[in-house]
Amino acid sequence: MLTTAGPVRDEQLDPVDPPEGAAQDREQPLVLVVDDDEDIRFLITHVLERRGCRVLQAADASTALTMCDPNELDLALVDIGLPGMDGLDLLRTINEHLVDQHVPVVLVTARALASDVATGLGLGASDYLRKPFETSELIARVEAALKIKRLQDQLREQNRELARLTMTDALTGAFNRRHLDEGIEAVCRAAQRYGDPVGVLMIDIDHFKQVNDRHGHQAGDQVLKAVAARLKGCLRVGDTVGRWGGDEFLVLLPRTDGPGALALAERLRAVVAGEAIAVNGGGVAGGGAGGGGGGTAQLRSVEGLPVTISVGVASAHSPAPAELIAKADRALYEAKAAGRGRVVAA
Ligand code: GH3
Ligand code: MG
Repeated sequence: MLTTAGPVRDEQLDPVDPPEGAAQDREQPLVLVVDDDEDIRFLITHVLERRGCRVLQAADASTALTMCDPNELDLALVDIGLPGMDGLDLLRTINEHLVDQHVPVVLVTARALASDVATGLGLGASDYLRKPFETSELIARVEAALKIKRLQDQLREQNRELARLTMTDALTGAFNRRHLDEGIEAVCRAAQRYGDPVGVLMIDIDHFKQVNDRHGHQAGDQVLKAVAARLKGCLRVGDTVGRWGGDEFLVLLPRTDGPGALALAERLRAVVAGEAIAVNGGGVAGGGAGGGGGGTAQLRSVEGLPVTISVGVASAHSPAPAELIAKADRALYEAKAAGRGRVVAA
């Protein structure tokens, strides 16, 4: 049994092999230890460092709060009976600072009061440890808390990835139609509130069916990806490009007036047309009509396809989403009718 003042037996401090990969800092859990008892702090630090953790030590809550951003912690071990701000208040403060993040807090207490522990658990502490404690119990509780932290981090990461996938077009990596619909609604709502202009570019690849028909569906897919990448490469932060459907893309431009939208449209047109797109999909025997990947595919070497786009531009102050899209659609239709490979503003 370890006591707060008692000596530490040698065997309790025998080196333990750190977990695999612990040599790399970022894989070593960062643990904050807050206790006004120096012996306890040093003991916990010693034990945890031998388990591959990086440890920050503080004797009081206000020092602890200046030492790190709570969002970077993997675990905090907090004594309830701290001088000044006590451990329960520190727990509250840590929780207030957390953004989209969970950090387990294990309360360490010499107090016999069950109500303190109950309050702490009610505030979100993940566990508690009564002093005096044995090293094995400290290790077991720390490892359990770190395991939960790892699982929660994984879950958060998976949720982020899932959220990303639900708004992304699988082929091009641009936003999908659903996300564009939501974005247009949100941008127009904000514009109506502040009287801002909104610009929209409706973009369609010219004679895209011929790419499929002559070079195969795979080559068509490569063209769609390359066009999306070129469009994305020209945009500012805050602008959005997404796949509207088929070979059509939509660019949403918050706080952008007519001349600004027109200038960007012209730049996008030039960037797509400026350089042939390399494709290496299978050709279709006979080069017949139909496209969509039909026909007998045969391998072809890499070749550069000249690709052009037509762009319809619309912009308005405080617009209604449907009207803005309809205007851009009409302008795109005019660009097609006027010979393609050009920009027309509504
Ligand atoms: P226009 O200049 O009038 O736009 O002529 P177009 O040939 O491009 O005609 P349209 O825009 O109607 O053609 C769209 C084609 O895009 C038809 C469809 O087979 C093809 N397409 C739609 N989605 C995909 C896809 O994911 N991959 C490939 N390879 N082709 C697609
Ligand atoms: Mg087209």
